[in-house]
This record gives sequence, structure tokens and C-alpha cells, in this order.
Amino acid sequence: MTASAEPRGTAVLTAEKNFKKDIAENPRCTFSSSDLMSFSKEIINQMDLEISNIQSLKSRLEDFGDDGSNGFEELYCNCKAAVDPDLIVRLDQCNKKFIKLMQVRKAVESGIFSNRCKLCGQPIGLARMMLLPTTRVCSGCS
Ligand SMILES: [Zn+2]
Repeated sequence: MTASAEPRGTAVLTAEKNFKKDIAENPRCTFSSSDLMSFSKEIINQMDLEISNIQSLKSRLEDFGDDGSNGFEELYCNCKAAVDPDLIVRLDQCNKKFIKLMQVRKAVESGIFSNRCKLCGQPIGLARMMLLPTTRVCSGCS
């Protein structure tokens, strides 16, 4: 009975030791500070792009005779016969992408950003992160 307890205790200690070693040798973010700065700038560029997409989609929705002062749901109900439903879907996608970009930006700013693939743990390269700042998986796992 003690024979089974002891190896388990050793296994836990070894796992803890390996975990600490992993964090020290493989930090969550493998980017250099200048790469991280380029990445941060790219996030801001993409956020700006989403803002202009959102504004343009909203103004196209307002072209359907609404002054924009109504709530979005009311606008949708009033105009759903006339509005291209794709506009609504795209506006929703742009809003969601903007929020995701904002979350990545916050993670970078607060030092908790990780470029490790959530599936295999390998670092995701700068080129892929620049292209898809909100991705959580490497190209091999996607
Ligand atoms: Zn992966």
C-alpha cells in the first residue's frame, strides 16, 4: 500500500518540477519585444480596419430609411424586408472580430499574451499571428 503511494508522490513532484522547467525554458510568449511591438501595431491597424468596416456597414443599413436613432433590433424589424440580411451578418462578424482583437491587445498590454498553439503547444510564428492576430492554433493544427 505504501509502495503504491510513494511512486505517485514522486510522480507529482517530478511533474511539478517539469512544469516549472517548461515555463522557464518555454515562456508563453516566444516573441522578442520588437516582434511584440510590431504585432501590437498590427492589432491596432486591424482594429482601425474593423471600425471603418463597421461604420460603412452601419451607414449602408441607415440608407434603408432609418435615421440610426432606433435600437438595432427595431431597425432590423423595420427593415428586414428591405435590408440585405448579409449586411446584418457581416456587421455582427465585424463587431465580434473587433472584440477579439481588443482582447488580444489587452493580453499583449498586460503581459499575459501567449503565442502558443492551444492544441499542440508549439509557438505560432509572427507571420501567422500578424495575418490572423486572433488565432489560437498553429497552421499545422488549423
Ligand atoms: Zn498546433
